Amino acid sequence: MLEVKGLNIDYMTLRGPLRAVKDAWLSVDRGEWLSIVGESGSGKSTLAMSIPGLLMPPGRITSGSIVFDGKELTRLSREELRRIRGSEIGVVFQDPLTSLDPLRTIGDQIAEEILEHDAASSKREALEMAAEALEAVGIPRNRIKYYPHQLSGGQRQRVVIASAIVLRPKLLIADEPTTALDVIVQAKIMELMKDLQKKLGMAVILITHDIALAAEVSDRMAVMYAAEIVEEGPVDEVVSRPLHPYTEALIKATPDLWREKTLYSIPGNPPDLRNPPRGCRFHPRCHRVFDRCRLEEPRRLRINGRTVSCHLHG
Ligand code: SF4
Repeated sequence: MLEVKGLNIDYMTLRGPLRAVKDAWLSVDRGEWLSIVGESGSGKSTLAMSIPGLLMPPGRITSGSIVFDGKELTRLSREELRRIRGSEIGVVFQDPLTSLDPLRTIGDQIAEEILEHDAASSKREALEMAAEALEAVGIPRNRIKYYPHQLSGGQRQRVVIASAIVLRPKLLIADEPTTALDVIVQAKIMELMKDLQKKLGMAVILITHDIALAAEVSDRMAVMYAAEIVEEGPVDEVVSRPLHPYTEALIKATPDLWREKTLYSIPGNPPDLRNPPRGCRFHPRCHRVFDRCRLEEPRRLRINGRTVSCHLHG
């Protein structure tokens, strides 16, 4: 349903262009859940937000293609993309407070989304659809007249999800939707998204820095480091037999309450993308680095339905 091919995205900065996504290749099938995992600044949100046309200046797609349901999204106008957002691709952002208007009721905000896409013939019908969407995410319909401040953080995120799924999109993109919430609410929101994915047959792209969370909910996982997808494949295989040392390190750095060992941390910091290291971008932090890694950029390889960019393979 979705194919991203050779996508490059630059941010124009005063010190020249900064490549935030480099040669990204991804695909998502109908009803499939793909999680994109990586540290802050790895490019995962930039990549995901470029799909529904939400890349803000100074960011811009410099080359590559995004095909969604047979349509080349990189060639569509802003208006065409606006019509696809909401009706075919739903988006959930990290902080529900910034997604919701504090001065309007939640029902009005969801109804507006419906009316903007001409999916209801009257405000009354749109409000009825909004009430149904709220019920689908576990918010009683009598709260349709509530303002965002009358709800808890978890309930607000449910409202944002209701607004994103009210028109039954084929794809839902969720950018760190639970980062601002506590772990119990996080688990409930993930359970809700999983449930909606199954009920609506919707594909999901989840952006997260939490590899443990991604492992629990996804079908496939892509790992990003310094603007590149370094590994991608079925989640069980990626987690049980990581091919890339960065994936291996992320898994080792996951907290385990019952492990008595000290928590592992990946040495060093991600590189400055204006001046990335020569060769493999992960080499200054890699525990398996060898001479070739410092000189030559690894190529993207396909191995049994998985992809990896690392000189240890091929
Ligand atoms: Fe480590 Fe070399 Fe593989 Fe890069 S190419 S991840 S430095 S082993």
